[in-house]
Amino acid sequence: MQQVSPMPEPPMPEAEDPSLFTRARKRLQQAAKYLDVDADAYEKLFYPQETLSARLMVRMDNGSLRSFAAWRCRYDDTRGPTKGGIRYHPSVTEDEVIALAFWMTFKCAVVDLPFGGGKGGICVDPSKLSHTELERLSRAYARAFARIIGPDRDIPAPDVYTNAMIMGWMAQEYSTIVGQHTPAVITGKPIVLGGSLGRDDATGRGGYVVLRHLEKRLGLKPEKARVILLGFGNASFHCARLLHDDGYEIVGLSDSKSAVYDPDGMDPYAVMEHKTQTGQVGGAPTKGNGKEISNDELIECECDVLAPGALENQIHKDNAANVKARVVLELANGPITPTGDDILIDKGITVLPDILANAGGVVVSYFEWAQNRAGYYWPLDEVHQRLSDFMKPSTDLTWDYHVEKEVDMRTASYVLALERIGESLNARGTRAFFRT
Ligand code: GLU
Repeated sequence: MQQVSPMPEPPMPEAEDPSLFTRARKRLQQAAKYLDVDADAYEKLFYPQETLSARLMVRMDNGSLRSFAAWRCRYDDTRGPTKGGIRYHPSVTEDEVIALAFWMTFKCAVVDLPFGGGKGGICVDPSKLSHTELERLSRAYARAFARIIGPDRDIPAPDVYTNAMIMGWMAQEYSTIVGQHTPAVITGKPIVLGGSLGRDDATGRGGYVVLRHLEKRLGLKPEKARVILLGFGNASFHCARLLHDDGYEIVGLSDSKSAVYDPDGMDPYAVMEHKTQTGQVGGAPTKGNGKEISNDELIECECDVLAPGALENQIHKDNAANVKARVVLELANGPITPTGDDILIDKGITVLPDILANAGGVVVSYFEWAQNRAGYYWPLDEVHQRLSDFMKPSTDLTWDYHVEKEVDMRTASYVLALERIGESLNARGTRAFFRT
């Protein structure tokens, strides 16, 4: 049997290092303390397996040619084909794509999907493109990365500012390249193009399932619990409406432009209607004397549950100390910096980590992939039931480890993920991870 060699000491920079990937890897280092980690396996998980960058050339409607930086990272495929979304955002960088692919690796393992982790991105503000420019850009992405994606290799999906329509274009472009109908190359497609029922609200629903499943253990009572959601995109809206339907009081919401707080609560359906009409949550109807405040102020308002959606780094060293919530539900990927995390833990706040709390999206993506391959489609109630069946046992295992070892939930979730990745490495004959 291979000897367990001492864990290499990677150079870990300051807690708030500018590199998101460096900060993300800090979680791995922390969790590794609780396992006897084989140096080979640690080395493997410390670096991305493969990252391809491309410059996408797009003919604009006015006849000019513009180019866009784009990436796809396959972080680790130990447990299966790599899986993860594609982000369209003007500030996306290669570093961010790699960090997001790293998180996908651990996310898929936490909820026990037969996938590794991947991610993609295009540096673009999609709101500045016409419909036809967006289509040409998306098809260009599928062409540029066709050699590394595939139903058994790497399976993209939607992420920030990408949607079912974009997935449909990419699936079609890929199918044309390989010369056969290949819906399983991408998930989050429109239903009529092989999408799964229940994929649209899956991320928010997953967070809702995790929170409700832990409700008693967290000391929350639905009729008394006040929730603030940072962001009001797909995940936040669906999580808010499901919690609201079960009696939770939604007291704060925000988007990139504005935030609204009302201790008397608000109806997320009415806020969404207002947002659809006006393009922002600011000025949305509330039950009492709701007031418009800044995003920064909203983070510090009174509530029981704070759910950061949207982008990274919202809770950090400068505002974490002012968070009033008892529970933070991470609907976004990486919304808390490591230093922010330490401060919340010191304050006794329970953080339900992203790789568990927002895994509902990729779980239903897995269902979509499985349905595409079987050519047989499931009814909505079956998707909902199976989503719960995936989320609840992983939530229980994470909680039990958190209680048993007195570690925070994030560390517990990484230990669970590392163990699962380690099992796959072990099965191939490499001694990898054992709990200490
Ligand atoms: N973009 C989502 C995430 O970050 C979903 C990924 C997927 O469905 O593959 O989890």
